[in-house]
Amino acid sequence: MLESSPGADRIVDPMPLVLVVEDEPQIAEILEGYLRSSGYRTERAGDGEAALRLVRAAHPDLILLDVLLPKVGGLEVLKAVRAESTTPVIMLTARTEELDKLLALELGADDYVTKPFRPREVMARVKAVLRRSQPPGQGAPLRVGTLELDPLRASVQVEGQALKLTATEFRLLHHLAGSPGRIFNRAELLEAALPESEALERVIDVHLRNLRRKLEAADASDMLQTVRGMGYRLSA
Ligand code: CA
Repeated sequence: MLESSPGADRIVDPMPLVLVVEDEPQIAEILEGYLRSSGYRTERAGDGEAALRLVRAAHPDLILLDVLLPKVGGLEVLKAVRAESTTPVIMLTARTEELDKLLALELGADDYVTKPFRPREVMARVKAVLRRSQPPGQGAPLRVGTLELDPLRASVQVEGQALKLTATEFRLLHHLAGSPGRIFNRAELLEAALPESEALERVIDVHLRNLRRKLEAADASDMLQTVRGMGYRLSA
């Protein structure tokens, strides 16, 4: 155990590092300019391969990820990132790529922005996703059946086995666990887990499907119940 004195200086975290993955230099430049003037640090990758290298080398706090990229496509990059981390990812998609948006969310993206976008809109989304990726930061641990949630650490355990959840999945589970047995509709869950997102209510189904898959791996999938026509509940 490390010793800490009450008056010790806190180490101040540097500003969050945002990785911009975009093959169109003008768009990347504009995004980086806005991010920097908002105080973020940035790194840039022009293709999927470079993106994966930078993710591993620089450990960004958030990734802005274009869908259509040379070498390795955005969705492939997302899949690879999700296989090893829960780093928040915002996808940049074209208006015509409806299917990609849903697929991206299924693969664990935290949000998406539709091109053409206003940079200010992207900044607002970056801020919101980074805020949401912080653990709720308060509240006592919750226990529902074999499930244990610690909001201070944003950690979830099932019978002592840790689950690796994205920030959105954690928020959903935390909200449901706050009132075991209560049925929440999609609108309530969307507001709890993804405030300020342009995401539609069906997005909740995608995140909960992913959450259920992870609970399944820990033999706890029957705790998360779909109530037809009404919504979802968590029950012991
Ligand atoms: Ca592109």
